[in-house]
Amino acid sequence: MSVRCEVEPNRCSVPRTIGVLEAEAAGPTLIVIGGVHGNEPTGVRAAEKVISRLNSNGQIARGRCVALTGHRRALADPDGHTRYLEEDLNRLFTPERVKEALRCNRQSLSPDMIELAEIVACLEAEAERARGPMYLIDIHTFSSRGTPFAATEDAIRARRFCRGFGLPMVLGFEEELHGLLSDYFTNRFGGVSVVVEAGRHGEQAAERIAEATLMRALELTGLIEPGIEALEVLKKAAGARAGRIYDVRYRHVIKNPDFKMLDRVHSFARVHVGEHVADEGGCAQRTPESGLMFMPNRQKHKRPGDDGYFIVRRVGGVWLALSAWLRDRAWIHRALPRFLPGVRRRGASGHELLVSPQIAAVMKRDLFHLLGYRLVRHDGELHLNRARRLAVGMQAIVRSVGLMLAGLVAGGERRILAEESPQDWIVRRHHLDVLDEQDS
Ligand SMILES: [Zn+2]
Repeated sequence: MSVRCEVEPNRCSVPRTIGVLEAEAAGPTLIVIGGVHGNEPTGVRAAEKVISRLNSNGQIARGRCVALTGHRRALADPDGHTRYLEEDLNRLFTPERVKEALRCNRQSLSPDMIELAEIVACLEAEAERARGPMYLIDIHTFSSRGTPFAATEDAIRARRFCRGFGLPMVLGFEEELHGLLSDYFTNRFGGVSVVVEAGRHGEQAAERIAEATLMRALELTGLIEPGIEALEVLKKAAGARAGRIYDVRYRHVIKNPDFKMLDRVHSFARVHVGEHVADEGGCAQRTPESGLMFMPNRQKHKRPGDDGYFIVRRVGGVWLALSAWLRDRAWIHRALPRFLPGVRRRGASGHELLVSPQIAAVMKRDLFHLLGYRLVRHDGELHLNRARRLAVGMQAIVRSVGLMLAGLVAGGERRILAEESPQDWIVRRHHLDVLDEQDS
């Protein structure tokens, strides 16, 4: 059985569909994708193995599982280091670029945009035939040594599902990176998506993790009966970090292709603000945030705009439980634009807020995360040391009080604030949280 999802036939040697498993009984649709970056074929190989094993083993109990290749043209390149051709495919899944890819005729599209159009066509076809909830597992590998991990957005349903893998869980990538396939999938189809970084490019261990991830995803979605083997493999690979949760705090964007991480800086190493972690353009790169080093880029080819490294921080269980409780209170979401100075509603949905940059400097992202909001635009975020942050905070409090008083006099803060300024932060409730609230 194959899915017709090429926009039109072409001569690429890598097929789009790796394999399909389908049961007669209705159930969830699990979409597995590997090789969204062409230099990461591990997920493709793992999917081939898992699909062929299940094909000879009596298939699945319910639902449907489709395994797809990501960047076919980059995967087909024999040099093995081709991540993408002109633009990173995993930054193209924005509503604007998707619209552009589907509208233009194929001759005028770049190779990466053709991949985008084809993958979107596949996902749309799956959504049309789905007879239950949809899930996406997007398998990647990384360039440096490190622990495998799973990343998802911080919606309650996504957190719960992602925990089932037993890997360290990283939240908040979608705030730093725009145009991710996983983010597009969740917002377009209302399904949970999980990105699994299975290990280092080309290593056998990464392929084992990728296989275990796919088996575990089939179990967690109920497509096959649960076992213990896959979870054991994943927990063992995660070691002491199994089940821990981290939040992305900072992303360094590469500006110069000579960017080089220092050898001593490894994934999950503790770094302090101002610490020299990389060299770039003849200068020492110092991290503006304290936390844990994450995914330092040691790719062979680096281009401006690529990720240099991330800083993450561990999130505690109490914080997560409190956050789950708070975001469930409808009155909190109603009260925020009414009572917080400098915070006002954006659009008619009631799920999106504008935050004045002075206020955002004090509240930072923690408060919004706690209340179940993701940062959609936060370009003006300042990375300051403690003393400077305190000073900016005091200024902001004074301004906020001024704003409140002026608002009272003018008959509402809204009257004295501009409709929307480009410096305002935009924060939005997680799509899955909103969907689940509407269903309950
Ligand atoms: Zn990747």
